[in-house]
Amino acid sequence: MIPKLFDFAIVGTGAAGLQLALTMLEDSFFQDKQVLLIDKDAKVNNDHTWCYWEKGIGRYDHLLYKSWEKGLFLSSTAQIELNLKPYRYKMLRSGDFYAYAKQKIESATNFTRIQAEVLHLKEGENVQVETGIGVFSARHVFDSRIDPAFATDKKSTKILQHFKGWMIESVEPVFHPDQFVMMDYRLRKAGTSSFIYVLPSTPYRALVEFTLFTPDLIREEEYDEILKKYLSAIPGIGNYTITETEMGIIPMSDYPFHKQHTQRITKIGTAGGWVKPSSGYSFYNGKKFAERIVAAIKGGHSPSFTLTKPRFRFYDRIFLDVLFHQNERGEEIFTSMYSKNKVTDIFRFLDEETSLWEELRIINRFPHAPFLRAVKNRYFRL
Ligand SMILES: Cc1cc2nc3c(=O)[nH]c(=O)nc-3n(C[C@H](O)[C@H](O)[C@H](O)COP(=O)(O)OP(=O)(O)OC[C@H]3O[C@@H](n4cnc5c(N)ncnc54)[C@H](O)[C@@H]3O)c2cc1C
Repeated sequence: MIPKLFDFAIVGTGAAGLQLALTMLEDSFFQDKQVLLIDKDAKVNNDHTWCYWEKGIGRYDHLLYKSWEKGLFLSSTAQIELNLKPYRYKMLRSGDFYAYAKQKIESATNFTRIQAEVLHLKEGENVQVETGIGVFSARHVFDSRIDPAFATDKKSTKILQHFKGWMIESVEPVFHPDQFVMMDYRLRKAGTSSFIYVLPSTPYRALVEFTLFTPDLIREEEYDEILKKYLSAIPGIGNYTITETEMGIIPMSDYPFHKQHTQRITKIGTAGGWVKPSSGYSFYNGKKFAERIVAAIKGGHSPSFTLTKPRFRFYDRIFLDVLFHQNERGEEIFTSMYSKNKVTDIFRFLDEETSLWEELRIINRFPHAPFLRAVKNRYFRL
């Protein structure tokens, strides 16, 4: 029987919604809480490949498709070996994650999962969740729907991280499964910050993606052309088959997503600003932020707290401005980032775990001109 009033409803069971549900489920505090999960999609397809770096053993390690402790950065002027230790770069296929979460959630009697489109949230004493199949009530709602105002907002800087990837099965053993390619800038769309990303799982199999960080999208054929060109240049590749295709768009923006929280509705995931604006990574933030939300609820605080750290938002804003107005400089900027810093320091910086002193050192190693221009553009424009 469906409860009349849920303690919590989670709208959207993607990366953020499911990580929050699993974190609640594993905490005895929530054993007597009724939790509703709603998604318009059945969430059975392998619609995302999530990669993230993490130190040591992680919560989803038993689900990983592959992980690496060595990476490679390539550009027209550099070839940099990345020694990730004590981190590993981890690859998780969403189909495996959804199946695991589904089985966990189905075994919990206080969790109810329904498939329906959420049409509207009405906030009063509780929140009325209006869906295509009826209205449900919850004391607090976690909402992964992106505010429609984001698309039309003119004040924020928006860069799209967009990509198309092919899972390749080759006849010859041409891939190096011990080392993934973080960025290969040697082949790119002219005038843009774009690169190839390679996740090899065996000598015969790799996910090869063409990714752009640009303000606008490109035609689908353009991704295909670059992917074909890249693959044809791999020595000895011979015949290969494309067994799967992945396409996606990740918004990288300084839009103030956190301002969408209300007393009884907390935005989560991309909609809640969990995507790191300057990198587009967010899966691992899902783990960290879900744990913070659960800790806040247990501490009797509102879960709708601000997850942002102001000085990192400043760095993100400047970086986005550089990408927006000086997009062609991406190769130069990333080359200097990977050649002048240890990759482990870059990870700590992107994870917002560095001290101000460490940040100043890292920032000082970037080429100064594009960043000074961006600061001038953002803060001293007449
Ligand atoms: C293809 C792809 C690959 C990515 N790879 C990486 C990566 O390697 N590493 C990384 O850190 N990040 C990656 N990202 C970025 C980010 O981690 C993902 O986008 C992540 O899935 C975001 O989580 P989310 O919960 O906000 O959104 P989603 O996972 O998209 O979940 C949102 C859910 O809400 C549901 N929903 C939406 N509207 C409604 C509605 N009205 N009613 C009911 N349900 C609704 C959707 O069906 C969906 O299931 C990737 C993104 C994409 C698109």
